[in-house]
Amino acid sequence: MQVLSVASEAYPLIKTGGLADVVGALPGALAAEGVAVRVMLPGYPAVMAALGPAETVWATQNLAGAPAQILSGHARGLDLLVLDAPHLFARVGNPYSGPDGRDWADNAVRFAALARAGAYVAQGAVSGWRPDVVHVHDWQAALLPAYLHYDGAQQRPSTVITVHNLAFQGQFAAGLLPAIGLPPWSFSLDGVEYYGDVGFLKAGLRFADRITTVSPTYASEICQPDAGMGLDGLLRERAAVVSGILNGIDETVWDPASDHLLAAPYDAAHLAARAGNRAALQAHLGLAPDPDAPLFAVISRLTWQKGMDLLPEVLPAILESGGQLAVLGAGDPPIEAAVRFAVANHPGRVGCLIGYNEGLAHVIQAGADALLVPSRFEPCGLTQLCALRYGCVPVVARTGGLADTVIDASPMALSAGVATGVQFAPATADMLAAAIRRTVRLYRHRDAWQTLQRNGMAADVSWRDPARQYAALFRELTG
Ligand code: ADP
Repeated sequence: MQVLSVASEAYPLIKTGGLADVVGALPGALAAEGVAVRVMLPGYPAVMAALGPAETVWATQNLAGAPAQILSGHARGLDLLVLDAPHLFARVGNPYSGPDGRDWADNAVRFAALARAGAYVAQGAVSGWRPDVVHVHDWQAALLPAYLHYDGAQQRPSTVITVHNLAFQGQFAAGLLPAIGLPPWSFSLDGVEYYGDVGFLKAGLRFADRITTVSPTYASEICQPDAGMGLDGLLRERAAVVSGILNGIDETVWDPASDHLLAAPYDAAHLAARAGNRAALQAHLGLAPDPDAPLFAVISRLTWQKGMDLLPEVLPAILESGGQLAVLGAGDPPIEAAVRFAVANHPGRVGCLIGYNEGLAHVIQAGADALLVPSRFEPCGLTQLCALRYGCVPVVARTGGLADTVIDASPMALSAGVATGVQFAPATADMLAAAIRRTVRLYRHRDAWQTLQRNGMAADVSWRDPARQYAALFRELTG
């Protein structure tokens, strides 16, 4: 089984969020299921630099107005097809925005070109290789099934679109249609038209053979108006082909027993070693070296989706129970400012690093007592999975993948010995504050707390089961 996976980011080559983790980890997990995956990525500077010796497998004089080629090679364990189109991707900044933080003005053309080239590959443009299934991720690759449809190809592979976050829809002005090479008749309700614009994600949801998202709960939520964000009607219409497959985490990257970034690696039998990591974390963020303070942490984009605007409101609940708060994140400037303000007002009790820091994320998982994930919606969420594996107790809003991956420490779950964390709903400041107080009460019961930690560490958060489910889906499609 040969799969072409098309996406705008893949860990460890280029990452802005969970999408990259998934695209980077799935090929390894699927290999164990007999599925070979080639990942197609834009040729950003970071990708071009990481690519080893590469072969040109396709070239054109005109892709979105300039020459482009596809390079086949390997990097960091991934079998890659890289779309080398310097006029679109050889830029300083992140995949979507420039150094000034603003989206690139030509994002529609850039990612349409990725999908366009991917559709050529799907139809055999790379000599000697034809994928059985094309797996596209999020709006950036979502036009691919639409190109296949309007190309009218007789022989085309099956297509799967995975939605990592329905909030990012890739909606652009209708006038762009000629520039992205779609025919005028594609601009219809049954085509790529979306509220008077061109909808990239909408097109993918319309034309892909199967639609998956990254948790069963989110799969049902997005078929309803609240979480459907304008696309729920189409998703309901296609409900028969919509399903949810949870993400896993890369257990080699996230392994507390062999994590070289930690002061003291440990396993479930040696949880006491977490104390060393906790002390290192406190020292690093300027928190008081208090061994008894419940240490709450956040590793997150600082956005409304993630409920990060609630942090200032729930700070009293943390501080009044003698706790501390460590924040690692970047995002909306007002939320960043509010976090900095809290640090300045509560020296030694609140610490932060505003920015992106992979190493500190590991130390936080290994040293903090509880991870706060108060998302208003959460397709899957990865940080709570890492927290489970590290014995950092997740405190999560009961939504999307958070609902599917954490078992609340209710009296029943505690007595049955299956609880792995704390859930609350809805994601409001009051409910989060109550969850924090409940977490502190559990924390003060050392035995109950350690049981929570051990249960979490025993949970299967690997890619094994998800990979089996993707492989089964691909096999169903190809007969
Ligand atoms: P999303 O993709 O919506 O941002 P996820 O929970 O699915 O959220 O994935 C976020 C990923 O990014 C996790 O691997 C998390 O550890 C990482 N992450 C988020 N913010 C930071 C940060 N400031 N520094 C380091 N890692 C971060």
